[in-house]
Amino acid sequence: MSDTKIPYKIYLSENEMPTSWYNLRADMKNKPAPLLNPGTGKPLTAEELTPIFCDELVAQELDNDTKFIPIPEEIQNFYKMFRPSPLVRAYCLEEKLGTPAKIYYKFEGNNTSGSHKLNSAIAQAYYAKKQGLKGVTTETGAGQWGTALSMACAYFGLDCKVYMVKVSYEQKPFRREVMRTYGASVVPSPSDTTEVGRKILAEFPGTTGSLGCAISEAVEVATKNPGYRYVLGSVLNQVLLHQSVIGLETKAALDKYGIKPDMIIGCAGGGSNLGGLIAPFMGEKLRGEADYRIIAVEPASCPSFTRGTFAYDFCDTGKICPLAKMYTLGSSFIPSANHAGGLRFHGMSSTLSQLYHDGFMEARSVEQTAVFEAAEMFARTEGILPAPESSHAIRAAIDEALKCKESGEEKTIVFGLTGTGYFDLVAYQKYNDGEMSDYIPTDEDIAASVAKLPKVGE
Ligand SMILES: *Cc1c(COP(=O)(O)O)cnc(C)c1O
Repeated sequence: MSDTKIPYKIYLSENEMPTSWYNLRADMKNKPAPLLNPGTGKPLTAEELTPIFCDELVAQELDNDTKFIPIPEEIQNFYKMFRPSPLVRAYCLEEKLGTPAKIYYKFEGNNTSGSHKLNSAIAQAYYAKKQGLKGVTTETGAGQWGTALSMACAYFGLDCKVYMVKVSYEQKPFRREVMRTYGASVVPSPSDTTEVGRKILAEFPGTTGSLGCAISEAVEVATKNPGYRYVLGSVLNQVLLHQSVIGLETKAALDKYGIKPDMIIGCAGGGSNLGGLIAPFMGEKLRGEADYRIIAVEPASCPSFTRGTFAYDFCDTGKICPLAKMYTLGSSFIPSANHAGGLRFHGMSSTLSQLYHDGFMEARSVEQTAVFEAAEMFARTEGILPAPESSHAIRAAIDEALKCKESGEEKTIVFGLTGTGYFDLVAYQKYNDGEMSDYIPTDEDIAASVAKLPKVGE
């Protein structure tokens, strides 16, 4: 089909939206390793997980076999407020680059929370409500997850307690106020409101916090308060499952015009948007029906895939969470505070870690300044002010398009544009003032935290 027939934006209609989530694990021969009980070293059972997570979400977490899980109608209806999201042909960026490559991006920033995280937040809030709970607790780093969860909890009338990484709480006061507007209570982490927070503060006075610390605090509060459960915005299998709507819509939109991508690119923090975007494509790859290059892009300052170790590790600094087998920098790894964007988590989704380990996908890391250069070019050509996290994927997409320019190949590139950057203007200010620096941890930094990995499951 000739290019001129492909519109700038490929929209699906409401009745073309997915009615089931796709569970990629069902098509994996090597399943992701199970979560382990840190006390016994044995796989966690549903009974052990239900004090922490909502019952239905525990079932989804442990289900490696059901290929399609129906999306409850209430969630489908909520999705219709901001979905289907457009798949955009980046004609203007292509022209600016002078590349023969065809670039598409799936834009998930068209909702108030500004990112893809609402796709899972609404599902998790729905199951909490259905179970008759009073509320949920969580952590948030850059603030997108907390914002999305606050919106979802407000919709279902649930209480929402958010532990926000201190550096973000201070640097991103506007996010905090959006969450409070939607009715959430927001506490900077580490805090003195929890046992684990007090312990971390005593050990590391003046710490700017990390997602790992905030998770420990949120889990403690959920397990100590009746009627509360903990919810997590990334990393877990259930979150990747909910995010499969991104990939399913992308595939449906591409199929409408008979477009076959050569490569699919996404940024990777805990792996949820990437896992969701690639799900149906990776499924085809696993079943031997099609082949794609799938590329995870992470920050050079927090390089779990490219410099981490594939091992069981804690998801949190306080070491109270289950152990997950993943590419990890060690749960005691605290990324440099100078790193402006999100993507600060020390580990990576077990599902993606297994797929990467088995050679089904690639990973690369990119430096902060190069990421913001890509963000600036994207904003000036495509008009959208991208989130710094998303801009990691933009960087890689631009680099691949420039390779096509050299080789003359007309590759089709699809990348995930996970969100907008309106709340990241402190980082943009640093970039605009020429004050942004690149920080890359040394081998010694990484070795020191990897040396503290728990000795289990080997
Ligand atoms: C949270 C976030 C990410 C990274 O999280 P994943 O779970 O790896 O998808 C990327 N982009 C935006 C805009 C985010 O808010």
